[in-house]
Amino acid sequence: MGGRHETPCPAPDCGRVIRQPSTGRRRTYCSTACRVRAHRHARSTGRAETVA
Ligand SMILES: [Zn+2]
Repeated sequence: MGGRHETPCPAPDCGRVIRQPSTGRRRTYCSTACRVRAHRHARSTGRAETVA
């Protein structure tokens, strides 16, 4: 186990790797736009965030 803090952006059509800060809040999406898009996508499909 290393000290990596990277997570893939769960937004549809993104998939960027988010480098999480070693301290502070962790980011779920790489950008606000992705967050909005993911929420729209979830609403349109009537499902919560999918876990790939
Ligand atoms: Zn993204």
